[in-house]
Amino acid sequence: MLAALAVFGILFFGPGVLTAARTQQLSYSAFLADVQAHKVSAVVVGTNGQITGSLAGGKDFATQAPVWALTTDDLATKLQNAGVQVSAAQQSDTLRQLIESLLPTLLLIGAFVWLGRRTGQSLGSGGGLGGLIRGKPSRVTDAERPRTRFGDVAGYDGVKEEVREVVDYLQHPERYRRVGARGPRGVLLVGPPGTGKTLLARAVAGEAEVPFYAVTGSSFVEMFVGLGAARVRDLFADARRNGPAIIFIDEIDAIGGRRGLNGVGGHDEREQTLNQLLAEMDGFTEGSSVVVLANTNRPEVLDPALLRPGRFDRQVQVPLPVLAERTAILTVHTRGKALTESVDLRDVARGTPGFSGADLANLVNEAALRAARAGRNELRPADFEDARERLILGRRDGTALLPEERLRVAVHESGHALVAALSPTADPVAKITILPTGLALGATHQLPNDERRLYSDRYLRESLAVRLAGRAAELIVFGELSTGAADDLAGATRLAVRMVRDYGFSGDLGPVAYPTAPAEDGERPYAEATQRLVDLEVSRLLRAAEEHADLLLRRHRESLDQLSGRLLQDETVDGAVVYDIVRHPPTRVA
Ligand code: ADP
Ligand code: MG
Ligand code: ZN
Repeated sequence: MLAALAVFGILFFGPGVLTAARTQQLSYSAFLADVQAHKVSAVVVGTNGQITGSLAGGKDFATQAPVWALTTDDLATKLQNAGVQVSAAQQSDTLRQLIESLLPTLLLIGAFVWLGRRTGQSLGSGGGLGGLIRGKPSRVTDAERPRTRFGDVAGYDGVKEEVREVVDYLQHPERYRRVGARGPRGVLLVGPPGTGKTLLARAVAGEAEVPFYAVTGSSFVEMFVGLGAARVRDLFADARRNGPAIIFIDEIDAIGGRRGLNGVGGHDEREQTLNQLLAEMDGFTEGSSVVVLANTNRPEVLDPALLRPGRFDRQVQVPLPVLAERTAILTVHTRGKALTESVDLRDVARGTPGFSGADLANLVNEAALRAARAGRNELRPADFEDARERLILGRRDGTALLPEERLRVAVHESGHALVAALSPTADPVAKITILPTGLALGATHQLPNDERRLYSDRYLRESLAVRLAGRAAELIVFGELSTGAADDLAGATRLAVRMVRDYGFSGDLGPVAYPTAPAEDGERPYAEATQRLVDLEVSRLLRAAEEHADLLLRRHRESLDQLSGRLLQDETVDGAVVYDIVRHPPTRVA
């Protein structure tokens, strides 16, 4: 018995004791202070924020960075400024080191899990060995009190408005309690990476002056079996004790993906963790004012159970920033940097549609680096241009457009918008934009006057012309086509086919509607000759629509140029502007 305990002692405390002798364990703040004091010479950063490295004196150290430090580029800048040599740990390396150093512990845990299962006691049910194992390492994150405020998040007024309710609730939970209203419990921030969701969550905590517990979804899944759920429990217990508080789960899809979908490994574990999270959110009592904010760019993969009332029942969209917001973000990030007078941040913003806030922060940093390399103290327009080119080329798969592409998209969308505005029965133009979203490089939005059930022949013909007008405009202005009109063509063709085949709008076919499904005997539902006639009629309709669009646009060529100019300049233009241009067309220069 005694012997067994001794072995246990060595196995359990051994590795820790040994490493402790060699490396100095630093708190993250102490580490930052050392960086600033130029006492750190090199660091290796692991994927989960484990940082190891050596101090100027040659001594090794290790520290753990909080999640938020990794999602802001702050740390990178600090390290860079201090001239620290940075390298990233290779996944396999970290893993191997981890396994090597933890192997004995792992074996032990395995044994206990096995024992626990056998005695029907689940791991981490408090006390006992579960408690021992969860003792210190289970601390997911330390609460932080961010000093970030809404003012630090540039733009996004609508989004801030939506999350202000959370701030209000955290500041005055008793008001809600008095009237028996259930405060917000879970808010899902949805949007592409780098749009400031983390920043915003921190600002909510900062504004409300409450503790902020940040974790990443994946940090739960990579833990030992059974610990993910226990960590969720500890996290919520901690937050409740210190409430009102905010728990922030970055990349919640890592744990919140649909259950039953077989992920790669750790699938059982993920399910347990998710179930625990749901249980905790349901268990919020009146007394605990904890709000969970979570962040994802793939809301569609989330388990529907997460989105039920009382859980993440609020979704706030955080889209890519529009022109004015990009200018504001650039202004925030150039604070404290000297710019020459010729730098116009609005120009920089204009050249960066599709950039996220993080991209813009990166752009400013790149520009500053370029100036520094040239030994200048001030940033010039060329620094920004160069940085922008490099970032765009670095991510050509992304949404960023090259200047000539922007021009083409502006002309294309202006074509749609003008023909719509010039067609009496067409739905009014509400908005045009050349800010890319997803696969679309630009868009013209039309708003129907009323909910239509019946469409006239004329309305449909004009719709065809509107759809083909983007292509027509490109042909007029550039004399050649691009691949950008494929969707328009497909849409127009579908509509034309229905007009001919289903609505009987074709003179040649007459008042006939042809079935689309094959007849029961497998025969074609209509004759070969009819099919040929349908094809012919469809292409006639399309050609007529294209000619109409072409004619309108040539007749209003000055308006076309003026509108595309406006779009290039402002990126998003209100429908009213289009009608204004049409009504007061620029005068033709002879
Ligand atoms: P997300 O969580 O949406 O991926 P982050 O909040 O991590 O994005 O943003 C990364 C960085 O980008 C921020 O730390 C900040 O420097 C910058 N950033 C993003 N959006 C904004 C914004 N609206 N205003 C100021 N900075 C921003
Ligand atoms: Mg983030
Ligand atoms: Zn189009």
